Amino acid sequence: MSRYKDAQCRVCRREGCKLFLKGERCYSDKCSVSRRNYAPGEHGQKRAKLSEYGTQLREKQKTKAYYGVGEKQFRKYFEMASNKKGVTGENLLQILESRLDNVVYRLGFGTSRAEARQFVTHAQFEVNGKKVNIASYLVKPGDVVSVRENRKDNSTIKANIEANATRPIPAWLEKDNEKLSGKVLRLASREDIDIALEEHLIVELYSK
Ligand code: SF4
Repeated sequence: MSRYKDAQCRVCRREGCKLFLKGERCYSDKCSVSRRNYAPGEHGQKRAKLSEYGTQLREKQKTKAYYGVGEKQFRKYFEMASNKKGVTGENLLQILESRLDNVVYRLGFGTSRAEARQFVTHAQFEVNGKKVNIASYLVKPGDVVSVRENRKDNSTIKANIEANATRPIPAWLEKDNEKLSGKVLRLASREDIDIALEEHLIVELYSK
């Protein structure tokens, strides 16, 4: 069981960076990356030099793990990003940031994306006054994401708001603590996304 609990931390250690998969623990000194910043397993302390393909693949796996998205959906987002004007890699990150589960997490209603996803699929949230229980729903500028009226007493969401009070809200979102809601002011730009990712490597991987 403890091994299962550590599975998410092993993903971070394999990628060599914090992916914030476990909620509050990620922000504490208990974080496994802070304590043991080497890959898991017997030979973890000797990181092998990766090939060009290996580096590109790891960057894709890291991004998928960070946003909690499976291969099929990730590929679909890549196609969407390629068909949009602008830089494909940046478009891809913008689409991933626009997912409703990510927005709920960014607004501090969930301590991790996984928890935020669970809230959404359990119909705790609405967008522009309408129930939405699809985690992959993509928000647009002007959308208002709120805790549903009959779920405002949810003690976990309330505790999360308190626990996440010091976590900064990205500039593309605006939070209303009184109404338990948040507004999408604009779509996320590259500078808004705080994880160290080299998205061009994903584009190169898929362009082979
Ligand atoms: Fe574990 Fe979170 Fe640290 Fe990743 S960031 S190693 S999930 S505690």
